[in-house]
Amino acid sequence: MNVAVLCDFDGTITDDDVAQLIFDRFGSHIWWDIENRFRRGEISCKNALISEFSTVRASRQEIESFIRNYVQMNATFNHFAEACRGRNVNMAIVSDGLDFYINLILRDIDIGGIKLYCNKAVFEDNKVRISFPYVNPDCDKCGNCKKLHLKRLKDKGNYIIYVGDGYSDMCVAKEADFVVAKSHLLDFCRTKKITCEPFRDFSEVEALVKKKLDELEQGQTVEASHLTG
Ligand SMILES: [Mg+2]
Ligand SMILES: [Zn+2]
Repeated sequence: MNVAVLCDFDGTITDDDVAQLIFDRFGSHIWWDIENRFRRGEISCKNALISEFSTVRASRQEIESFIRNYVQMNATFNHFAEACRGRNVNMAIVSDGLDFYINLILRDIDIGGIKLYCNKAVFEDNKVRISFPYVNPDCDKCGNCKKLHLKRLKDKGNYIIYVGDGYSDMCVAKEADFVVAKSHLLDFCRTKKITCEPFRDFSEVEALVKKKLDELEQGQTVEASHLTG
């Protein structure tokens, strides 16, 4: 069986939520009111992002230099990505964040083979406009609906492991075969009785994924021996 890992970016591959750091530094404090409306389910992630980024006044250069100075990916991610590659696991980063900062933060690692699905930033006159290539007409919660990516991989026969931390992961988590979660997503999965394992960093994710892969492979060996025996 093919296995695919779908992994959130903000707060998962990075320790901080990068978009929120940008709002704090370059936006207006009202972004928190917008964020809370999103968290209460009153507005979609797409509309929240549009409103939150509309408070930002900065050039692409200013934001990128801020990110270079203040944001890093979690140091354990690279090893995990390589381990996935070594076991032929499909890996994709699925994010309701923006392409420019994700690519910037991942610049130093070899992301060969890792697909990135996220929203796209367009800079105009010190403002950030967002385009949403992966809107799901059947979902009123997301900007980039991660369920679309999950479904495409599932239809190809993949077993889906989902790794995430927050509100933008709740739509997809219900559909995954196995969830690895922290923070708000962990609380959500426990409340909704979605089977999940907690993690703090990717060394723990790596151990959980390895265990799951071993289980799946063993299951297949047992199935195959039933067939031949
Ligand atoms: Mg997140
Ligand atoms: Zn969705």
